[in-house]
Amino acid sequence: MSLANKLAEERRARLAAERLLEQKQAELHSANRKLGKHALALSEEIVETRAEVQNVLDENERVKSDLTVANEKVEIAERRLWHSIETIQDGFAFFDADSRLIAANNAWLSVFDGLEDVQPGINYVEILQFATEEGLVNIGDMAPHEWREQMLDRWQSLSPEPEIIRLWSGEYIKLVDQRGHGGDVVSLALNITDTVRYEGRLKEARRKAEAASRAKSSFLANMSHEIRTPMNGVVGMAELLMDTELTEEQLLFSNTIKNSGEALLVIINDVLDYSKIEAEKLVLHEEAFDLERSIHELVMLMQANARDKGIELLIDYDMFLPTQFEGDPGRIRQILTNLLGNAVKFTDSGHVLVRVVGVQNTDEVTAKLSVIIEDTGIGIPDEKVAHIFGEFNQVDDERNRKFEGTGLGLAISEKLIRLMGGEIWVESDEGKGSVFGFSITLPVSGVSQQNDFHLPEGLKLALVVEPHDLNRSILEKQLSTLGINCITCSDAHAALNLMSNEVDLILTDHHMPEMDGFELAEELRGAGHTQPIVLLSPNTGFAEQDPARCHIQSVLQKPVPRKELFSALTALEGVFPAVPSEEVLPKKPKTIVSEADQSDAEKSPRALRVLAAEDNKTNRLVFSKMVKAFDIELKFAENGKQAVEFYKAFNPDIVFMDISMPEMDGKEATTRIRKVEKDTGCHVPVVAMTAHAMDGDKEEIIASGLDHYLTKPLRKDAIAKHITHACPVGVRNPVNADQPVA
Ligand code: ADP
Repeated sequence: MSLANKLAEERRARLAAERLLEQKQAELHSANRKLGKHALALSEEIVETRAEVQNVLDENERVKSDLTVANEKVEIAERRLWHSIETIQDGFAFFDADSRLIAANNAWLSVFDGLEDVQPGINYVEILQFATEEGLVNIGDMAPHEWREQMLDRWQSLSPEPEIIRLWSGEYIKLVDQRGHGGDVVSLALNITDTVRYEGRLKEARRKAEAASRAKSSFLANMSHEIRTPMNGVVGMAELLMDTELTEEQLLFSNTIKNSGEALLVIINDVLDYSKIEAEKLVLHEEAFDLERSIHELVMLMQANARDKGIELLIDYDMFLPTQFEGDPGRIRQILTNLLGNAVKFTDSGHVLVRVVGVQNTDEVTAKLSVIIEDTGIGIPDEKVAHIFGEFNQVDDERNRKFEGTGLGLAISEKLIRLMGGEIWVESDEGKGSVFGFSITLPVSGVSQQNDFHLPEGLKLALVVEPHDLNRSILEKQLSTLGINCITCSDAHAALNLMSNEVDLILTDHHMPEMDGFELAEELRGAGHTQPIVLLSPNTGFAEQDPARCHIQSVLQKPVPRKELFSALTALEGVFPAVPSEEVLPKKPKTIVSEADQSDAEKSPRALRVLAAEDNKTNRLVFSKMVKAFDIELKFAENGKQAVEFYKAFNPDIVFMDISMPEMDGKEATTRIRKVEKDTGCHVPVVAMTAHAMDGDKEEIIASGLDHYLTKPLRKDAIAKHITHACPVGVRNPVNADQPVA
């Protein structure tokens, strides 16, 4: 290699080295810059971190001081809480989940005074052990282990029931324990000694008050019974006096005595009933009865009174409701009598409607009945409505002061209905009328039967003539259930206009303005209409005597029971279509005398022998006067012993037996008579005469062998009924000499 080449090579190498050096210097410079920046960033970070650390340190200081304050507060709160807990007189303790006592106040610990082991840390089981071993609790007849088991079972339950224990000192403690989430138990021991003693005093006071109330009710019941006996004399004698010859004035006086006596008896019965209910002595006697018939019978009883006042009595008995139920018919009748009696009493014009609706319950065995009595009478002011079911509460204003009454009827009705599990209500519009209603659930009687009526063929359309809207719609409803269509009108003139050959039957009211039912019948017959006519009258006795009666096929008493209406229509079979004739007139039953009776009569039969046992002289007199008109041989016994003697010697056909008599009472005497009859094989009817009206008396009397039962004051017709009934063949009819004994 030439020198020049070598120099050139060296120069190239030197230049390359110089470039490399330059490059490295540049890199070093750049690295130095970065390092400088990094160092700056680091120093900034260090400054920041230092500031943060300072903050945390400050925070720590603050928290520390807060904690100290909080701790102080907790301590204060705990001190206050314990102070409060110590202040209360009831015991307070709490236990951990292992049933160890954590803390308790002095009241709680005081029960275990002197027992040092009872302190925080003791287990509940040990506490129970101390309680029994040291005799701290009065556990009665229980064995200690039984008591502890019972207490422990309770303690371990999730939420223990409060328990009352009695301490040896006679104090009563109510334990109320509450289990918390973690298993801790807070236990309160409340001293309820005062409350228990107060309750005891209250119970004693209540017992005494109830005993006094029972004594009062029993006194009232006895007193009303005692009043009945002398009332028998008063009412009976007044009745007899009226049968003698009297001046008009004397008749008025004796009538007043009789009426007042009877009114007094009504009051006594009310008081007796009320006191029996109050004394919880009233028992319901359930039996099968016909509700619809009971209502009709009552309405018939009130009919005369309603007729005199010119008010219409209506019955609307739900077509699809059974009529036979199981209940206490006597008491249901008493409720109805009161509500219906009030409705008639407080109504001067318009109507009184008894509506019975009901639904048979899904069990098919019972039915819920609602009986509603609606009147168009004086009504009750709003402010008085709420009080009328209270005893002796009468709406005492000018208008109803003229009405008589005890003010007990509604109170008794309400109590009776409640006893039957029902309810009673009233709605009233003063001056317009009242609606009283009650609902009861009664078992439907098994003897309920479907009505089986066969209407005459071709009876399809009836003309109903009835002025009263409600009654008209009731009749329409009744007929439509039988499949009979109706044309209705409210007076006879309209009926004559509507009459046509299409009509199969005329159903008309008796009393109508302008033209009454009989006149309508005459007009119809005069016009050649021969269809049967059924007349509805509130007074059938009066209607039967009308000369136009021959035009009518049937006269029915208003309000007509469904069954009677249906059977009257069924009976039209023979006269349908009608040809009025004398034959349809009712005939008086002829008296049929059998040959045997005639021959007996020819043998001049003896008189009926009546033995009456009665210790009271006045009542003997009353009895003898009451039977004076009868053709009998009467003998009196003055006590039960004499009654048995006379029974043997006198051989009576019937015995009337007083129950309360000295020496031997009527029940004992009858038992002895029945013993005598065991040998003779005969059975003479013995009729009890008693003023006893308490429940159960009747059963007791009948159980002693008496056949029948009459309550005092006695009634002549009731005596006559029993005497006639007891009359054997071959004995003169004691009541009606012309008639042989049936
Ligand atoms: P009373 O024997 O007086 O009728 P009740 O207890 O039966 O006793 O009735 C209490 C009072 O309620 C009656 O005196 C009367 O003021 C009022 N009252 C009851 N029913 C009716 C009614 N249908 N219309 C108007 N007032 C009535």
